[in-house]
Amino acid sequence: MPHTLLLAEPRGFCAGVVRAIDVLDAVLDREPAPVYAFHEIVHNRHVVDGFRQRGAIFVDSLEEVPEGSRIVFSAHGVSPAVVEEAERRQLRVIDATCPLVTKVHLETRKAARDGFEILLVGHRGHDEVVGTLGEAPERTSIVDSAEDVRALSERTKPVFVVTQTTLSVDDTAGVIDAIRSRYPEAQVRNDICYATTNRQLAVRTIAERSDLVLVVGSINSSNSVRLQQVAASTGTPAYRIDGIEEIDPAWYDGVEVVGLTAGASVPDELLDPIIEDLKRRGVTRVEPVVVAEETVVFQPPSGLDPGRA
Ligand code: SF4
Repeated sequence: MPHTLLLAEPRGFCAGVVRAIDVLDAVLDREPAPVYAFHEIVHNRHVVDGFRQRGAIFVDSLEEVPEGSRIVFSAHGVSPAVVEEAERRQLRVIDATCPLVTKVHLETRKAARDGFEILLVGHRGHDEVVGTLGEAPERTSIVDSAEDVRALSERTKPVFVVTQTTLSVDDTAGVIDAIRSRYPEAQVRNDICYATTNRQLAVRTIAERSDLVLVVGSINSSNSVRLQQVAASTGTPAYRIDGIEEIDPAWYDGVEVVGLTAGASVPDELLDPIIEDLKRRGVTRVEPVVVAEETVVFQPPSGLDPGRA
């Protein structure tokens, strides 16, 4: 049975998620329910369920929101069309988009203005990609793989590349290589964020020393799914779980060292019962494995000044 637990650091909440959660938390404290949020505020079932119990209503269409209501945009960002629709409906918006996602929107908007054709490396249908695509839909193609790049038609204009913030660092390098070999003049912005990069490095490091890796995070959390894939790519069995209830004890058979991490939208308290359970199973050594120190903090968005929310 396991005797050692390796805890990846950094893991769990990033600065963008902390900011988005703080925003919705503050609005719910100050205003009567219901408060609306466009899309899940962050991609974590436990976090979203907790807000639902406090009166938050998560919607995927602004048509579901009565005119004049308070609405919070999620950390993943929204397209300009959604912003315009919110204005038309006179919704009182607080935008909790992560500033690192906003940066990708601004890059995309400028590139479109400057006459580029844009390649957006990312997963079709993900909230963040839908929002970024909306900056210049007529000039943007989504590519998710080197095969997608090879299938593109010839570009008649210069090419500009942006990426989703939560992609696999290794897979994206392959896609960008394919873009560079097809369009040697392409201007490339790799927008994978610091939190994604650090968590992938940390999970790879613990996976190389573990017999089993557990990644806490929801199925719709892109960065959590990537962490499981990065861990599994080392050859170590790796499972993504929403919480302790999804662990099959048979996974621990023959395992001496367990690695544990969590996606950027996961509260650390979800790991506590897993750690306690592992101690009951015989783990006597808990070792944090630190690959980076994170000091990033984002300021609250406008509209959240004291008394104004
Ligand atoms: Fe921002 Fe990165 Fe966190 Fe997404 S994962 S909210 S881009 S810091």
